[in-house]
Amino acid sequence: MNVLVLNCGSSSLKFQLIDTASEAVLKKGEFERIGSDESFYSMDIPKVEETKYKAKTHTEAVAKLFELMGDLKDTVCAIGHRVVHGGAEFSGSVLVTERVLKGVEEVSHFAPLHNPANIGGVRACIELLPKIPNVLVFDTSFHSTMQPKAYRYGIANADYEKFGVRKYGFHGTSYAYVAREASKMMNRPLKDLKMIIAHIGNGASICAIDGGKSVDTSMGLTPLEGLIMGTRAGDIDTAAAVYLAKKKGLDFDGLVSYLNSECGMLGMAGVNDMRPITTRVAEGEEQATIAFESYIHRITKHIGALVAVLGGVDAICWTAGVGTNRHDLREKVMSKFEFLGAKIDPELNILHNGIGEGRNRTGEISEEGSTVRTFVIATNEELQIAREAVKILETCEC
Ligand code: ADP
Repeated sequence: MNVLVLNCGSSSLKFQLIDTASEAVLKKGEFERIGSDESFYSMDIPKVEETKYKAKTHTEAVAKLFELMGDLKDTVCAIGHRVVHGGAEFSGSVLVTERVLKGVEEVSHFAPLHNPANIGGVRACIELLPKIPNVLVFDTSFHSTMQPKAYRYGIANADYEKFGVRKYGFHGTSYAYVAREASKMMNRPLKDLKMIIAHIGNGASICAIDGGKSVDTSMGLTPLEGLIMGTRAGDIDTAAAVYLAKKKGLDFDGLVSYLNSECGMLGMAGVNDMRPITTRVAEGEEQATIAFESYIHRITKHIGALVAVLGGVDAICWTAGVGTNRHDLREKVMSKFEFLGAKIDPELNILHNGIGEGRNRTGEISEEGSTVRTFVIATNEELQIAREAVKILETCEC
């Protein structure tokens, strides 16, 4: 069966049509700048092309997508949607009903930029293809196995209960995919493995996984907590944030936007893309060097804390844009875990960088005999969403 996977952002719509039997991608592309005069769509599969197309709304973009799919539209058995925040209610993927959409809307205040856009995509599909089932796959639900000791903040019970303020964690779809791949590569069942996965992209987090289940993760109520990211500050003393708001004359929304969009590597080094930072660090530029070292230090600290939470580790996996491309970052972080028996092979580490001929983004980079194994694994959230959609369809009578 073919599953259409949609990932709707506030002004974008990424799509993939996946044949779930062969797991081949039949169509892949993205609508960008939806709502503006410069909106366009680009295709990566079956062939690379970019076309101007005025999509005023997500519904118009979805309508165009269905037109672009031609006869393939009739092969779609389900549409899988990425949803960022499922709150405490959604501990797994679900088939869409009106009640489910209401439940998602109720937690949208925790992800005001993402959830409404995600739901907009679902509503467009219901309107245009009412007979095709829609499945929601949440970034948060993988972490529903966390115990209260991991997800509770040190705040009053009454406030936790009334406002739902706790850690939820994100990047769950990526963790589910990478954990399964690592277990296959180790030829050991997931249930016997303790793993650390570092999903280091523009947004970044770390997860501790025991027996395939999330035990703890660096992101929190929102994706703002934890690591220093492309544009997010990550962990910061709450009083420091409030002090900054006062000094900069920011209200609540202004502060949240500042910490999410103007901090991290962008704030520290002036750019959120790691590629130019490499050159600047090599040239010895002070700002870029401090930013890069702080970024690495924070990752190291979180991995160390999560290894302790697990009480040991069998595998450390690197994924996402920075995690799969930056051998120097992996080398610096991993050098701190040699005492655990996690040794990487410098040549294999460089080889697994995803750039250049003969290089592969997925593979093991451990030194022979290393007791903790290290992997670089290119994540595939779309495939994971398609797999979840199939699972949901198989368990329900639709
Ligand atoms: P997200 O899904 O959070 O947008 P990605 O996982 O796509 O993030 O990662 C994007 C980031 O990966 C870019 O901002 C850039 O910093 C980094 N990146 C991508 N390619 C490379 C590369 N070749 N070398 C170093 N960093 C890279």
